[in-house]
Amino acid sequence: MSPFVSKLDDETLRCLVEALNESGQAVSIYDAEDNLRYANKTYQSIFLKGYEGPFTFTEILRYGAKHGVGVRIDDGDVEALIARTLLRRRSVPRKSFETDFLDGRWFWMDHTILPNGWVLTVGADITALKHNERTLRQAHNEAVLASRTDLLTGLPNRRHVLELLDDALAANAASGSSLCVAMIDIDRFKAINDTHGHNAGDAVLRHFGSASRAKLGTHDAIGRLGGEEFLLILPNTSLIDAARIIEQIRQGCAEGKLQDGEVTQSHSFSAGLVEAQPRESRNSILSRADRALYTAKRQGRNRTKLGLQARNPEDPAD
Ligand code: GH3
Ligand code: MG
Ligand code: MG
Repeated sequence: MSPFVSKLDDETLRCLVEALNESGQAVSIYDAEDNLRYANKTYQSIFLKGYEGPFTFTEILRYGAKHGVGVRIDDGDVEALIARTLLRRRSVPRKSFETDFLDGRWFWMDHTILPNGWVLTVGADITALKHNERTLRQAHNEAVLASRTDLLTGLPNRRHVLELLDDALAANAASGSSLCVAMIDIDRFKAINDTHGHNAGDAVLRHFGSASRAKLGTHDAIGRLGGEEFLLILPNTSLIDAARIIEQIRQGCAEGKLQDGEVTQSHSFSAGLVEAQPRESRNSILSRADRALYTAKRQGRNRTKLGLQARNPEDPAD
């Protein structure tokens, strides 16, 4: 036996109990019948505020649920929690887990089953760590969002809209329903910049973004490929419906009115519209849409042209 245990004299034992009592760790010992045999001050402050017994594991949990102390129960069903916990409580000799309490604190709980079936629980306050974790997670989410968003229009940027296209193509391969994609380019945009200034050009880009979003459903997407070029993705949409949606966007751009009443330069765009063929690659669909867009420009702009069928839709070089 370790010399520290064999030499456990009365004074050491008294100090040990006193130290445990004052510790910031939450310490408890339940016996084999789950009667609480020891609880230090921190444990009492979490689970036993105002409680006068009976001091059994299940009754303490029920008291906490009724009086708003102790563990947070997500679905509010304390009996289900008791049933779940009792099943697992002595299943392994040692386990650790994190838990949050109704007073907002988080603890890292360490359970040890003693040879006689008693349970020692030691919990460490990790609230500060959890707050740091949450701050980091929020910062991470914001960074991910920023890396996907075009700063000027607030639309998905090139990288993200191409990812959305990949997702839509994969979903389409699984479902076999109709997916339409359009490449859109604002007409004579350089002239808008040259005549009215770069800021007016920026306002047109923003207006195009909001005029598009206003006509799209929650499963549709539009993103900025770069400059004044955009990609529209319309899942579960036929060619006829896709062309109709594009005409509605065209009308919104011609009006040149923003939602907040501000007016921008009326503008038009050309679009190359294609319907994805079975198992068509991203490159194939983009190059078909691009060629149709080029035709729309050549034929006078301010119009939508349909793309030709792909020769081999799976050929990435097509
Ligand atoms: P087309 O009808 O053939 O598409 O002619 P266009 O003038 O629209 O096309 P072109 O490619 O000649 O000009 C695009 C212009 O878009 C040139 C570039 O300076 C401008 N541009 C690109 N990005 C931005 C931007 O973020 N803001 C503004 N204001 N202008 C931009
Ligand atoms: Mg253009
Ligand atoms: Mg262009």
